[in-house]
Amino acid sequence: MNKIYFLGTGGSAATIERDNTSLLIRRKEELILIDCPGSVIRKIKMLELDPRKVRSILITHTHPDHIYGLPAFVHSLMLDKLSIKLYGSEEAIEFCCKLLDIFQLREDKILCRINFFKLETQAKFDLSPDLKCNVFKVPHKESSLAFCFDFEQERKKLLYSGDTPVSPQLFKRAAGIDTLIHDCSTPSRFSKIYPYLPTMHTDALSLGLMAQQAGVKRLIPIHFFGELDYSIDEIINEIRQNYTGELIIPEDLTKITI
Ligand SMILES: [Zn+2]
Ligand SMILES: [Zn+2]
Repeated sequence: MNKIYFLGTGGSAATIERDNTSLLIRRKEELILIDCPGSVIRKIKMLELDPRKVRSILITHTHPDHIYGLPAFVHSLMLDKLSIKLYGSEEAIEFCCKLLDIFQLREDKILCRINFFKLETQAKFDLSPDLKCNVFKVPHKESSLAFCFDFEQERKKLLYSGDTPVSPQLFKRAAGIDTLIHDCSTPSRFSKIYPYLPTMHTDALSLGLMAQQAGVKRLIPIHFFGELDYSIDEIINEIRQNYTGELIIPEDLTKITI
């Protein structure tokens, strides 16, 4: 059974309840990690999974809350003879190489090898024999990527937005989709206080409206800002003003079935 594990569900500022956002897909015996902030190894172990089963890492973009834990991840596995594929934009690949080189984590004595795969901004590739991944750009950072996973055997599609403001192109792709995991950084009132927010992230009111219009079957908001004062009930109320489908508010270490 394919599962998604939420290793973290918060924004750039972690809280006691929510660490930086990252996801883990379990596909049969292999694990696919999406973004790599801190404590990933510990959280995978807390889920009673084996970090050595991570076969692929996908990077959405190079903001610190999505990538700063990569050197620690590789360092933790340095004695394990592993070959892990890392996928990202050209910018993300260059950034990850530099980050690992700062800590000499691409030297021969490091048995855990990272192999880099540069993704074009409109790409489709096979993550495993019956799991396809479609890649496209979102307007958060120069080369921010969203990933749409096609679980062919189960005939299920899952779209993860990464960090993004409202993107009409993304919601076109989300039309009728089984599961949408989407940036939902704050309730809408903060857009008036911080005018840059709607240019970088999505608020709960807009997300509910766009998801409803797109006919999303199951919506999972994520990346809740920890540095602003609001409750999850406010997020739910704003989404529910428009969205009538299944709504899951994930906590750290929540798991769901695809
Ligand atoms: Zn972020
Ligand atoms: Zn970001």
